[in-house]
Amino acid sequence: MTSLPATSNSFDNLPLSPAAQENLRRLGYLEMTAIQAASLPAALQGKDLIAQAKTGSGKTAAFALALLAKLDARNFSVQAMVLCPTRELADQVTTEIRRLARAEDNIKVVTLSGGVPLRGQTSSLERGAHVVVGTPGRVMDHMDRGHLKLDTLSTLVLDEADRMLDMGFVDDIKKVARQCPAERQTLLFSATYPDGIAKLAAQFLRNPVSVKVESRH
Ligand code: ADP
Ligand code: MG
Repeated sequence: MTSLPATSNSFDNLPLSPAAQENLRRLGYLEMTAIQAASLPAALQGKDLIAQAKTGSGKTAAFALALLAKLDARNFSVQAMVLCPTRELADQVTTEIRRLARAEDNIKVVTLSGGVPLRGQTSSLERGAHVVVGTPGRVMDHMDRGHLKLDTLSTLVLDEADRMLDMGFVDDIKKVARQCPAERQTLLFSATYPDGIAKLAAQFLRNPVSVKVESRH
């Protein structure tokens, strides 16, 4: 008798800690979505990644699990940064990272988006953050003022990269990416893949793995 083909998209097959696996079950994340199954193995190996899938396909957890797996909670320095196009998306990403990090010890995620005063964000950064999630303009503002140091960053995520380009953030993204250590993992997530994204990826990603989940509509 032959064994059954591996059709399951279980998170169990990923190199995640038992605590992270347990947290996924507690959240009701029993199976990986298609984009998670396509991107997590490479992302967890530390590879650069271009991932394309439609909205609502679970892209946040794909990059969140990858960046959380690498964090050193004992080291209160910014080790991962996610750039998002809007404040609302930055808030959603922060919420999802916090949910997925609950099993880890004491991970601090700070949101740096525009439209709110700098001061609260600055004091959060001063207290120590492992992960920052923000919009490119505000992130740059904190960098320029010396509030945000990126020398210990090991993961940079460009989320909704197509929307960030549409909104005119390309120069800000470039400036921020240039200040990140060259020795890092870069993950780019997008719903579509226009020329501008390919150019950005060519500039800031190294030997990226490309994965795409076709929409059935
Ligand atoms: P995208 O960024 O692709 O638009 P999101 O990351 O916002 O999608 O995910 C959409 C929804 O799916 C969220 O409510 C999220 O909690 C949920 N979700 C993500 N991954 C899983 C999973 N493996 N199992 C169940 N729900 C999931
Ligand atoms: Mg998303």
